[in-house]
Amino acid sequence: MIDAPALCKHCHTNPVEPGKGPQRREYCSDACKQAAYRERQDEKRYRRLRQRFVSYTPQTQAILESIMRQHEDVLEQVLAALESERPDRPFKTWLKTQRGRGNPLQELAVKAHSDPRFPERGTEATYREYVKAHTLPYGLYSNWEGEAGLHNAWLNFQEHERQA
Ligand SMILES: [Zn+2]
Repeated sequence: MIDAPALCKHCHTNPVEPGKGPQRREYCSDACKQAAYRERQDEKRYRRLRQRFVSYTPQTQAILESIMRQHEDVLEQVLAALESERPDRPFKTWLKTQRGRGNPLQELAVKAHSDPRFPERGTEATYREYVKAHTLPYGLYSNWEGEAGLHNAWLNFQEHERQA
């Protein structure tokens, strides 16, 4: 009886030519060898990316998984959008760290820190509404802080969270 030739580890279709050296061949062609390498690289990257969505529901994770595999170019934006909708972002804690002299966010950070009603956690919308509802002359904050200032701070906060 003749042994059936081994099949390619990638396409599982074509037989693998027996190699001459001691090293056994695993792929039918260079194209399959390269495709298998690319797949391994993708899986490595996917494992890292997946860690950023473990806290979502299984349904959301499944959606993110398919976006990752089919449209990886937009995954970053989708994750950022989801992140910004989470109602539990500890923005105040981070803002406290921006009170240093020369920090463009210093004024807002000092005010928020001294304001016991400034929410501990929330979405960007939570904070925008809060700051707008407490603008000068009756509240603490300037119009700018309610609009561009807060948005700018929020972007910095998100960047910090991404790197953490
Ligand atoms: Zn093959």
